[in-house]
Amino acid sequence: AAAAGAAAPKCLALNDLSKVLRTSRRWDELLEAWAGWHAIAPPLRPKFERYVALGNKGAAEIGFPDVGALWRAGYDMSPEAFEAETDRLWGKLKPLYDELHCHVRARLRAIHGKERIGDKAPIPAHVLGNMWAQDWSNIYALMEPYKGQPSLDVTRKIKAKKLDEKQMVSLGERFFTSLGFDPLPATFWERSLLKKPVDREVVCHASAWDVGDRDDLRIKMCVEPTEEDLITIHHELGHIYYYHQYYKLPVLFQSGANDGFHEGIGDTLALSVTPAYLKTLGLVDRVPEDEKGLINFLFKKALDKIAFLPFGKLIDQWRWDVFAGKTRPADYNQAWWALRLRYQGVAPPVPRSEADFDPGAKFHVPANVPYTRYFLASIYQFQFHRALCKAAGHTGPLHTCSIHGSKAAGEKLRAMLSLGASRPWQEAMQAMTGESEADPGAMLEYFEPLRRWLKEQNKNEVCGW
Ligand SMILES: [Zn+2]
Repeated sequence: AAAAGAAAPKCLALNDLSKVLRTSRRWDELLEAWAGWHAIAPPLRPKFERYVALGNKGAAEIGFPDVGALWRAGYDMSPEAFEAETDRLWGKLKPLYDELHCHVRARLRAIHGKERIGDKAPIPAHVLGNMWAQDWSNIYALMEPYKGQPSLDVTRKIKAKKLDEKQMVSLGERFFTSLGFDPLPATFWERSLLKKPVDREVVCHASAWDVGDRDDLRIKMCVEPTEEDLITIHHELGHIYYYHQYYKLPVLFQSGANDGFHEGIGDTLALSVTPAYLKTLGLVDRVPEDEKGLINFLFKKALDKIAFLPFGKLIDQWRWDVFAGKTRPADYNQAWWALRLRYQGVAPPVPRSEADFDPGAKFHVPANVPYTRYFLASIYQFQFHRALCKAAGHTGPLHTCSIHGSKAAGEKLRAMLSLGASRPWQEAMQAMTGESEADPGAMLEYFEPLRRWLKEQNKNEVCGW
């Protein structure tokens, strides 16, 4: 992608383009960054088609109808039951998403104009602060519900304190050790990649690695001094500590109870990174205490957690249909945008055609990483959080709970992690939460004050698209 301006064009990488989406408020500049990144994908299309055929051949050889059915078979229930389960979960959370979408669209309309963001229209995909419109928290400042409340700008604080990559990862480690977990092994610090190298290209997409089964644990991540990366560090450390708890089990059990559990552990702890906890680290000045401060806090969280849900679901909805042959290669892009419209209520900002391959512009598609795990994790984490808060003796609203320092919560968490994949996930869920199925109720409980506020804001809006 070429940079704007008269100067010699400089090639911008995804990090640079994401920064534009995160920080620019100018329609054309946002559009150029969005379109520039999506232009990388068309060459992947023939390779992806070939990969689908080869993947299906391999799936058939081990007894599955196609790769999608193979992926859906990892949940201790039939692939059909699992698909119905994801629909059930989404159905319970969609009304809250719809309220958030409605309000955010009204606020964006006030900024970009009615001719660009109409009534009852989907939101253009490039103005939500993220390349895939999967996390809207970067536009929080544009639509902060109440001014004059304690600042929730943790990024500014991280920069002011000049925290380096290692210090940021240490903050995450300290959270785990406060729960009674072991410090990270020395090899973690020696062998991880935490800083973007200046002398070569690397894949910067954050990942956590369990090398062999000798507790050789590593993170590969180009850490930036932002709140988003501080949260991602907790996410990756969740994988690392899961690896650490089960590495002595027989090798077949060295895995999460299901892949959604693996993705949800670090995020569960990150829910305990509350303003009150951040204040102890000097990363916020004041803790919001009244109703207005609370709405600001929950609104910012919802721009991340609630906005993500439909995206988390639709990626594999698309791939399941592709692997099953329901979506033909000639319809790849059109089917992609039909799902993005249906689930997210977003639309491409410029016309698309089958000359494009927009699903290929999302890491997990060419990288062959199933995605429903993130959808599940985003729901499980609130259920886990609720259970650990109870173990920690927390009383009061769920969103004020931090389990930091609670050995009782740590013990419950460790007991579950130590099971690895030795039991069906429903039993692991039971062990930690006392509940044997996924319950979106904890997420709804967490956001209930915000839901009421959004409903009030939206009373003169025509919601939906
Ligand atoms: Zn992960």
